[in-house]
Amino acid sequence: MLVKSIVRFTLGIKDHYIVSVKLIGNELKIDLDAKRRRKLPCSICGKRARPRDKLKERTWRHVSLWGIAVRLYYRPRRIECPEHGVRVESIPWSMGKKPISFPLITVLSFWSRMLPWDQVAKLFGVSWNTVRAAVEAAVEYGRERESYGDVRFIGIDEISRKRGHTYHTNVYDLERKRLIWSGAHRDKDSLRRFFEWWGKERTAAIEGVCCDMWRNYIDVIHEYCGEAVIVFDKFHIVRHLMEAIDKVRRMEARMLAEAGCEDLKGTKYIWLKNPWNLTESQKITLSGLLKSNFKIVRAYLLKEMFRRLWDYRSRTWAAKYLKRWFWWATHSRLKPLRDFAWMLRRHEEGILAYFDLRIDNAIVEAMNNNAKAISHRARGYRTENTFSLALIHGLGDLQLPQCQHRFL
Ligand SMILES: [Zn+2]
Repeated sequence: MLVKSIVRFTLGIKDHYIVSVKLIGNELKIDLDAKRRRKLPCSICGKRARPRDKLKERTWRHVSLWGIAVRLYYRPRRIECPEHGVRVESIPWSMGKKPISFPLITVLSFWSRMLPWDQVAKLFGVSWNTVRAAVEAAVEYGRERESYGDVRFIGIDEISRKRGHTYHTNVYDLERKRLIWSGAHRDKDSLRRFFEWWGKERTAAIEGVCCDMWRNYIDVIHEYCGEAVIVFDKFHIVRHLMEAIDKVRRMEARMLAEAGCEDLKGTKYIWLKNPWNLTESQKITLSGLLKSNFKIVRAYLLKEMFRRLWDYRSRTWAAKYLKRWFWWATHSRLKPLRDFAWMLRRHEEGILAYFDLRIDNAIVEAMNNNAKAISHRARGYRTENTFSLALIHGLGDLQLPQCQHRFL
């Protein structure tokens, strides 16, 4: 029968054969059996040995055929491996104890990198939970084939979920530009869980860690990874500066508005954007305002001066410049800028470390946009673990399971 050959072809089996194919209700029931007098491979070492008994029947959901659900039925054999004793055979279409066939794992995990999971489920006529299980299996498969042996620089960042109500801690490989770990929350325990998983040996290989000036992260890095150099991410530093600038604008705009002056109305982005990104009309507004003696103008000039810090090649000169900027900021009579300057002072070592290692979380910014896309597709990411799983699957650059036949 033709269906038999098709199923045999998609499973790529040699030691097994298809006993029967029956259409029961709207499901194709495929019964499989092991060929007689054939030695079967040990599930641990792959060495072949004679089967000794049968276990009870297991079933696997397989790739649907013309929209008809396909399920495989088979009683796994136990063999006597000379090395490992009595073991279950290695079943070619199976992955561990998963109730879905390896080809189905391949197909579902491939498409769920590109499409929302509920659509993948609909497309292949399986449940959302089956798609999740396939992704989990694929990540497991990829992780087993990935040693992460060459990771020297990691970036740590947080990502918000549910509109900022919950956070996830993400750890990136800065050189190969991929996500290596994701876990719920952004407290000390979140990062501890990463280091526990990462292990002593790989932690010892880490030379630099890039992160925000965030006490929780800093403490845990010292705890686990004391040898590595901590570099505070320049994008985070600039973000803190922008917050300070905006605080100055808000306070002043409010005061002016009370006095009936609307000059700062609608100027928020003029002060925050890079000058070369301003529109023509914004440029005109800015050059007019720069002639005033508003506080925001002083803040703006300090912001523009701060940018030059990153141009320094040598740490020594950068340190000198930072000292000068600190003096300007602390004498600016602008509290938000003074607070920012003092924050830099408290974290000076990690800021200047940038000039030794030159690492930053730029790739993290780009990947966070992808992560947001993943979380927007996220209809159905009901739990934290599923969200982490989706992120690793989408951004981890892990090897996907592959089988001979491509179904779609
Ligand atoms: Zn064995």
